[in-house]
Amino acid sequence: MNILLTGSAGFIGSHLTERLLADGHTVTGVDNYISGQPENTALFADHPNFKFIQADVSEGIPYRAGTFEGQTLDFVLHFASPASPPHYQQFPIETLMVGAQGTQHALELAHAHGARFLLASTSEVYGDPQVHPQPESYWGHVNPNGLRSCYDEAKRYAEALTFAYHRHHGLDTRVIRIFNTYGPRMRPDDGRVVTNLVVQALAGQPLTVYGDGQQTRSFQYVTDLVNGVVALMNAEESDAVHAPVNLGNPDEYTILQFAQVIRERIDPALEIIHEPLPADDPRQRRPDISRARELLGWAPTVDLDAGLARTVEGFRTSVGAVPASVERTPVAAE
Ligand code: NAD
Ligand code: UDP
Repeated sequence: MNILLTGSAGFIGSHLTERLLADGHTVTGVDNYISGQPENTALFADHPNFKFIQADVSEGIPYRAGTFEGQTLDFVLHFASPASPPHYQQFPIETLMVGAQGTQHALELAHAHGARFLLASTSEVYGDPQVHPQPESYWGHVNPNGLRSCYDEAKRYAEALTFAYHRHHGLDTRVIRIFNTYGPRMRPDDGRVVTNLVVQALAGQPLTVYGDGQQTRSFQYVTDLVNGVVALMNAEESDAVHAPVNLGNPDEYTILQFAQVIRERIDPALEIIHEPLPADDPRQRRPDISRARELLGWAPTVDLDAGLARTVEGFRTSVGAVPASVERTPVAAE
């Protein structure tokens, strides 16, 4: 397939690009590096089936500038958006714009090409959930003007817009709701709990737990997510494939337990210190993945221990370095 991926220079975008190229597709990545890394583009720069367009998708998507001989697109994947709370709170307007205008530009491009469309939505549409675990049928509990609203409401609008294009224009659209995902190539300064704690532990610094650490999260390794995305992309069109699908690992930890896991793995002598809990920090989060299991036959396979081993190794050997799996990709495709 000829695929356009927004947010290709991000953490998830880079893993998705790697997989799509390995599967033999052509990929045009689009990114403005607001929260991504040029190293993630450099990984694929020499690949014959990869092209990159540096652009702000909120302004438009100049696909022809980087096109594969003007080929028609088969799929548009919209992953562009700051995703870590410190990033989206530093760029609240840009985050709202990429969820709104950026999503519309991506939908318009898919519509113009007769392509299928997939939106990367988020567990944040559930806000601080009062239903646990969270099934897709839950409408959420979101503060519409709090510090996280620039992200939560942008994604909720993006879902609404996607469904409007599906219902009004008949576009073949798919929506995933991603739960906390981690792995190599996260930006070491992104401020998320996995990166903060791994970077702190590797530097021999105290681990920062916000609040009492009793809030929970469920951590998904990135290759499990990529498998779920590919399964949904490949699913035959039916009413069921258009509805949102949770993709996450239901193994739930308190943040304090998570800090203890990191400490045990890297240096049992490390101190755990507490810092203030940010406003509107969700108290609990765990995906109900029954839909993904039934619709796609998908379930995560990488547990926290195995995922952290690969992640810590990635951070040790300097983030952005070309991992062996990526070096092999161009060779396999040639
Ligand atoms: P990331 O910040 O590493 O990647 C996002 C990429 O989008 C970055 O490269 C950034 O530069 C790019 N981008 C942002 N705004 C843009 C714009 N206007 N134009 C062009 N490029 C733009 O984050 P990530 O963790 O890889 O997340 C990717 C997607 O998955 C996001 O849409 C995010 O909301 C979603 N998601 C991620 C998680 C997670 O745990 N990682 C959870 C839920 C949802
Ligand atoms: N957190 C923490 N220490 C850190 C960074 C984050 O205790 O150094 C907490 C944060 O308050 C939240 C959880 O870890 O409760 C997950 O935060 P993250 O920013 O990774 O993502 P979120 O799920 O909140 O979007």
